[in-house]
Amino acid sequence: MSVEQVQVQRADFDQVMVPNYAPAAFIPVRGEGSRVWDQSGRELIDFAGGIAVNSLGHAHPALVKALTEQANQIWHVSNVFTNEPALRLAHKLVDATFAERVFLANSGAEANEAAFKLARRYANDVYGAEKFEIIAATNSFHGRTLFTVTVGGQPKYSDGFGPKIEGVTHVPFNDLAAMKAAISDKTCAVVLEPIQGEGGILPADQAYLQGVRELCDAHNALLVFDEVQSGMGRSGELFAYMNYGVTPDILTSAKSLGGGFPIGAMLTTTEIAAHLAVGVHGTTYGGNPLACAVAGAVVDVINTPEVLNGVKAKHERFRTRLEAIAAKYGIFTEVRGLGLLIGAALSDAWKGKARDVLNAAEKECVMVLQAGPDVVRFAPSLVIPDADIDEGLDRFERAVAKLTQA
Ligand SMILES: *Cc1c(COP(=O)(O)O)cnc(C)c1O
Repeated sequence: MSVEQVQVQRADFDQVMVPNYAPAAFIPVRGEGSRVWDQSGRELIDFAGGIAVNSLGHAHPALVKALTEQANQIWHVSNVFTNEPALRLAHKLVDATFAERVFLANSGAEANEAAFKLARRYANDVYGAEKFEIIAATNSFHGRTLFTVTVGGQPKYSDGFGPKIEGVTHVPFNDLAAMKAAISDKTCAVVLEPIQGEGGILPADQAYLQGVRELCDAHNALLVFDEVQSGMGRSGELFAYMNYGVTPDILTSAKSLGGGFPIGAMLTTTEIAAHLAVGVHGTTYGGNPLACAVAGAVVDVINTPEVLNGVKAKHERFRTRLEAIAAKYGIFTEVRGLGLLIGAALSDAWKGKARDVLNAAEKECVMVLQAGPDVVRFAPSLVIPDADIDEGLDRFERAVAKLTQA
């Protein structure tokens, strides 16, 4: 039996939705691999992957299978019970990382909220109530709850909501001297993205992460890596910290972890996890069997040498072509990032115009992202075929050519 669907258009958004987003003029209705079709049947190449979410493209057979099989089993049981997909996923994450314990949530912000609360709780329990300060990086992004916007170093997201969470300070990213000056025995945690995503695709320096790890150890502060964007294969390693050989105490994941199905995870050690005792924290949907079944399949596909090495090779393919476009049109000063998290920084003449580049790209049927006003971001499927990369970059170059010649 088919249910009659009401016709809807982009214009409906302005009538029925809260106006906190400004969605594009077209509505995507179907996706397959790295291609997306809109309501009119127009086909676009997807270099956006949602926002670094669709790690295996659209309708990946392994994910469709995991989701539909689980849909016929059981959807939800509450955390009064545990469930098989959640336990299988936790085993996979523990086996693949430094972590020994996993907390499952529904989003990046929720994973971070759990991480920040745990860091404070741990310090409170072990060292006393005076140790609650959190140091984070300027221009970082950790989500949109009040705690996470407070820790994220961007006033445009945190101002105007009344009093913030106390005890959060910000220092410039990749500035070890600033971190050294700010950290103290009152610091309970340092929170960093190993590759700043929303802030402009800025990878941490090796010496910086190593130095911060040593400062945390010297001051009994936990090191929290927010890998919501950089994790799950996007950097060419399963998690970006593995590129650096610097291990955090707590790590958060989301975005690519669900491949398009909402899920978040917080990973930590047994010793630290012990401080989230029964009743201390929780979530209704976190650990949902549908989400965990999908994420389990995502981990299985991504955590293989073929896929991870493929990400590194595809990085080179993007970089070579983007650098050629940069040289030919003078629109970019630098192409940076790791794996398939790539930023092209706009030159002075184009500063602030990332949105114009997005719009021009969309007209040529390729979806890209921005990371702030000055950086064009590419976060495609980790298994995007090389032919789609080439075709998408042909389209992107046409967009840049038209834009720069206009
Ligand atoms: C997207 C993002 C978040 C927030 O994730 P949500 O799922 O939107 O809550 C947190 N941290 C980083 C680094 C992100 O990129």
